[in-house]
Amino acid sequence: MFEYAPAPESRDIVDIKPSYGLFINGEFVDPKGGEAFKSVNPATEETLAEIADASSEDVDAAVAAARRAYDTVWGPMPGSERAKYLYRIARIIAERSRELAVLESIDNGKPIKETRDVDLPLVAAHFFYNAGWADKLDHAGFGPTPRPLGVAGQVIPWNFPLLMLAWKIAPALACGNTVVLKPAETTPLTALAFAEICQEADLPPGVVNIVTGAGETGRAVVSHGDVDKVAFTGSTAVGRLIAKAVAGTGKRLSLELGGKAANIVFADAAIDQAVEGIVNGIFFNQGHVCCAGSRLLVEESVADEVLTKLKRRIGTLRLGDPLDKNTDIGAINSAEQLQRIRELTRSGADEGANMWTADCPLPDTGYWFAPTVFTDVQQSHRIAREEIFGPVLSVLTFRTPDEAITKANNTPYGLSAGVWTEKGSRILWAANQLKAGVVWANTFNKFDATSPFGGLKESGYGREGGRHGLEGYLDV
Ligand code: NAD
Repeated sequence: MFEYAPAPESRDIVDIKPSYGLFINGEFVDPKGGEAFKSVNPATEETLAEIADASSEDVDAAVAAARRAYDTVWGPMPGSERAKYLYRIARIIAERSRELAVLESIDNGKPIKETRDVDLPLVAAHFFYNAGWADKLDHAGFGPTPRPLGVAGQVIPWNFPLLMLAWKIAPALACGNTVVLKPAETTPLTALAFAEICQEADLPPGVVNIVTGAGETGRAVVSHGDVDKVAFTGSTAVGRLIAKAVAGTGKRLSLELGGKAANIVFADAAIDQAVEGIVNGIFFNQGHVCCAGSRLLVEESVADEVLTKLKRRIGTLRLGDPLDKNTDIGAINSAEQLQRIRELTRSGADEGANMWTADCPLPDTGYWFAPTVFTDVQQSHRIAREEIFGPVLSVLTFRTPDEAITKANNTPYGLSAGVWTEKGSRILWAANQLKAGVVWANTFNKFDATSPFGGLKESGYGREGGRHGLEGYLDV
C-alpha cells in the first residue's frame, strides 16, 4: 500500500479554451461541417474542450495550404533560414515546457514526472537536433544534393502526443517539406498548443497544418492525392490499412507500429538493476509504449529472486493523480483502452496463466488499471503474443541463451528488446540474434534525438530520429 501525496501540480498555468478549430494556413478555422468531439481528462472524466472534427473537405483545404506553402515559401527557402524557424520553435517549447507538460498530463493521463522529465525535454531536443541539420542538407557535400519530398501527411497516436508530433514535424520541416498532421482523437490539446507555437514563431502560413478528428480524418490525410509522403505511428492493424491505401500511388510511406518486446534477464545480471529496468520497461507511461518490455524472459535459476524483488518494488509504485509530482502510474488514456486491457488480462487468466495484481486502491472516477504481473505464461497465450498496451507484464522463463533468443523472436513484432547481463560478449551476441529495431543493454526505454528508432517485421519500417530520420523526408 502506498500513500498519496496530495498537492497536485497547479493546473492554473495552462489555458484550455472551451473549443478549438482546425489549424489551416496559419490560423484557427471552424470545420466546414461544423462537427466537433470532446477531449476528456482520463483521470477525472471531465470534458476539457470541444475539438473540431475535420471532414475530407477540411483536409483538402489543409493539403492545399501545405502545397502552396511548399511551392512558394518553404520549399525554395535556404536551409539556413528554415533552421532559424526551427530553432525558434525549439526555444519556445523549452520556455513553455512546464505548461506543455501539465497540459499533456491533463489530456493524456500520464504522470507529470514523465511529461516534465522525459516527454518535454525530448520534444525540445528533437526540434533543436533537426534544426541543426536544416542548413547542412543544402551543401552537405556527401554526394547528390538532397531534396524535400513535398507535402507530408502525418498521423500519430495518443501515447506520446507531443513527442510523436516532434518526431514527425521536426525532420519533415528541416528537410523542407510542409506538413498536414492529425493527432489522436483522445489527445489533441498539445498539438493545438503547438499550432499556437507556430504562430508565435511566425512560421509562414501553411507550413504546418493540424487537422483534428478520428480515423476518418486520418484516412482522408493519408489517401489524399496531393500528399507526397505518409508517416504513420499507431497500431499494426491501422498500419496495414494505410499500406494498402498508399500502395501503387507513388507516395513514400513510413510506419511505426506495435510491439511485444522481450526484456531478457540472464542469471549473471545485476538483479536489483534489472528489476528497476523491468519496472521502467513495462510501467513507464502505464505501459502505453510501443516498445514496452511487456514480456519478461528470465533465466530459470534466478526467476524466484527476480519475481520476489519485482513484486516488492511494484508495491512501492504510486498510482493516482497525474499532476501529483510523486505519481508513478497515471490514468489509462481512454475508456476504450481500459476495456482492451481488461479483456486481454481476462484472457490471460482464462488461458491458465497466474495473475498477480498490486494491492493498490484505484480512484473512483477516471480510467485506472493496477500494475499486474502474469506468471506461468505459455508462448501460445494471447498475453504473450498480443500487444496489451497497459501496465501488464507477462513472465516467461528460459534455461539457455538460445532458448531466450528463440522465445524473444517468437512474435510477429520486431520493435525492441532488452538484455540484462554482466557479460559484454553476450550483449553483442544477443543484439545480433534479436530481430528488433532497437536493443537496449542493461537499460530500457532510453530515447535520444540523435538515435534512429523503428521496427522490423510487423512493427513497421522506416526510422525516426537521428540522421536516418531525415532520410524519410528526402529524395536525392
Ligand atoms: P491507432 O492505430 O488506433 O491510431 C493511431 C492514429 O491513427 C490515430 O490518430 C487514429 O485516429 C488514426 N487512424 C485510425 N484509423 C485510421 C485509418 N483508417 N486511416 C488513417 N488513420 C487512422 O493506434 P493508437 O491506439 O492511437 O496507438 C497505439 C498504437 O500505436 C500501439 O499499437 C502502439 O504500439 C503504436 N505506437 C507505435 C510507436 C512506434 O514508434 N512504433 C510509437 C507509439 C505508438
